[in-house]
Amino acid sequence: MSNSKLVNYKKLSPYNSGRRTHKIDTVSIHCVVGQMSALSLGYEFSKPFKNASSNYGIGYDGEIGCYVNEDSVSWCTSSQENDNRAVTIEVASDTFAPYKVTNKAYKSLITLLADICIRNNIKELKWKADKSLIGQVDKQNMTVHRWFNPGKSCPGDYLYNLHGQIAKEVNERINCGFKIGKKVRFTKNKNIYKADCKTRVKYSSLNKNWKAKSHKGITGKAVFDKGETAILKAIEHKNGKVFGVFGGKNYRILLVDKKGKKTGKQ
Ligand SMILES: [Zn+2]
Repeated sequence: MSNSKLVNYKKLSPYNSGRRTHKIDTVSIHCVVGQMSALSLGYEFSKPFKNASSNYGIGYDGEIGCYVNEDSVSWCTSSQENDNRAVTIEVASDTFAPYKVTNKAYKSLITLLADICIRNNIKELKWKADKSLIGQVDKQNMTVHRWFNPGKSCPGDYLYNLHGQIAKEVNERINCGFKIGKKVRFTKNKNIYKADCKTRVKYSSLNKNWKAKSHKGITGKAVFDKGETAILKAIEHKNGKVFGVFGGKNYRILLVDKKGKKTGKQ
């Protein structure tokens, strides 16, 4: 099992319980209570006597840090049992209720969650806001810190109340038929690209400005295979449209159903 390729910064924390003994089937989103960067959070989790960590953290600027390898157990949710099966993510937030997060941090959270789900074969994020469903991942596979430690309001009402929306947005990406890292063959006919993918997809006009404007640091190094094969590096939304990023070349993706009609949020 490897870490997310979306990580911009890595500083492993000494506060972890080693390799997981349970497969990853849950995600736990936390709020930092501080609008800090991924780098600063890494320093926090390496301080003496801190006794806390997370697998990932997202800075106020949307940068993603890794502090405990994804295959290992973080000290995040006041429950070893939960942290043994959950990928834990700390998101930079205000220091006061409802612990709001920035739009950039929120967007990175969606991107990271989709990546985690796809790589760990989590087909859908499920949220019922029901503590009694802890561990019943067929009904609910998102958990929150406040359920395990009543003294905590984490992840704060802002993120807590967005959990349903977060699940919806992540599921749109999981189900869009792409897998990060998967090779996708496509053929070009004038400006329309057709991909060899599960979902029928058309690619239309290249958006040359997009990467530089809003995707720096997320797509990673550009690699473009010869001919008409590319490797999907990331899936991102822009202005409500689903985008795929292929080896540094960006294509707008239109999801279409079997009859060729536009489908879902695109
Ligand atoms: Zn927490």
